[in-house]
Amino acid sequence: MATTKALLVGAGHAHLHLIRRADELAAAGYEIHLLAPRYFDYSGVASAMAVGGLPRGAGRVDVRALAGSTGVNFHEGRLLSLDPVRRIATGADGAQLAYDALSLNIGSVVSPQGMRVHPSVVRVKPLAALMALDARLQESTRSATTVTIVGGGATGIELAAQLATRWGVGRVRLVESGPAIGADLPPGARERVLRVLARRGVAIHTGCLVQEIGERGLVCAHGCEIAHDVAVLATGLSAPPVLEEWGLGDERGVPVRATLQHTHRDEIYAVGDCAQFLPRPLPRLGVHGVRQGPVLHQSLLARIHDRDLPQYTPRRRALSILDLGGGVGLAVRGRWWWYGAGVLRLKRRIDERWLTMYRLR
Ligand SMILES: Cc1cc2nc3c(=O)[nH]c(=O)nc-3n(C[C@H](O)[C@H](O)[C@H](O)COP(=O)(O)OP(=O)(O)OC[C@H]3O[C@@H](n4cnc5c(N)ncnc54)[C@H](O)[C@@H]3O)c2cc1C
Repeated sequence: MATTKALLVGAGHAHLHLIRRADELAAAGYEIHLLAPRYFDYSGVASAMAVGGLPRGAGRVDVRALAGSTGVNFHEGRLLSLDPVRRIATGADGAQLAYDALSLNIGSVVSPQGMRVHPSVVRVKPLAALMALDARLQESTRSATTVTIVGGGATGIELAAQLATRWGVGRVRLVESGPAIGADLPPGARERVLRVLARRGVAIHTGCLVQEIGERGLVCAHGCEIAHDVAVLATGLSAPPVLEEWGLGDERGVPVRATLQHTHRDEIYAVGDCAQFLPRPLPRLGVHGVRQGPVLHQSLLARIHDRDLPQYTPRRRALSILDLGGGVGLAVRGRWWWYGAGVLRLKRRIDERWLTMYRLR
């Protein structure tokens, strides 16, 4: 039987599902190649790992081991360039990989929103960059380090709440350009979070449009300056800039149809944060990557059997749980919310169950 080469780039949530189910793809006639870094870091426990609340390995998946166990040809590294006309991908080590079908699941980066950002500032995405935070805090020579987080969305709130409970952190500031932090939270949940942050001494600066974040301080549009020892950039996520270099999209992502295929190239798929889902805008959340995995898997099978391709239908609401440190969490689904220790226990169970699927025993 002739084989069809499918190249998976990045081992994000959706591709992990495919790697696990690779035997079905191989049986259908695919030769599966994966080009990705060796380890995948899971965002559900990223904040806790970054502030030292959980060990570094708590959210890691050994992608090479998983691929090896399911017969996927693993190429360690990152995609450097792509020739969509000749259908050839080139890895950072110069190795060239030809493909018949290509799928991108390479995640996102933090979007600096036009700010000038010093290289010492810790970025929340890619997660490998966020993992530098713990080391930066340990290196800090001050006994009471001042940390400023720029961006008062879910990630900024999680990090501020957790940092405020960490030993050695003296002052935590959360800086937001809008009129309130947690703008997406239901009003009652926002009030609850504000009470937690106030009790832990987090200083909140709203209406502060940051123009520049330097090594030791930041400057806002109306001239105020705020000093820090360590700054964290948490101003929202955008697709990786390399997509533009590859001619596949822009900061919104690779434009894909409901079938998760590129608008003009049927053989190219994009899933998760690096995709711009054209039927309707999707928030950059792991849950979409997770739910797109089975659709992508079925699509590859349908393609080889010349059947109609399935479509991704996002659910209107998803459960999201913030780890607020100190043993408590905040769960939100639509306008419903719950707070407390039981919520964090539920989050840990959900995260562990998901990670266990991709870890070899
Ligand atoms: C601190 C933090 C906490 C978050 N918590 C949550 C949460 O609790 N729940 C939730 O739903 N969302 C959360 N998010 C959002 C979540 O991180 C993303 O929506 C999710 O990770 C996107 O999944 P993905 O599969 O698209 O990509 P990712 O999970 O980012 O995976 C992409 C993979 O591709 C690899 N890669 C990147 N570039 C290349 C390349 N050029 N070549 C090959 N491989 C490459 C990366 O190393 C990575 O392993 C959080 C985000 C942050 C920053």
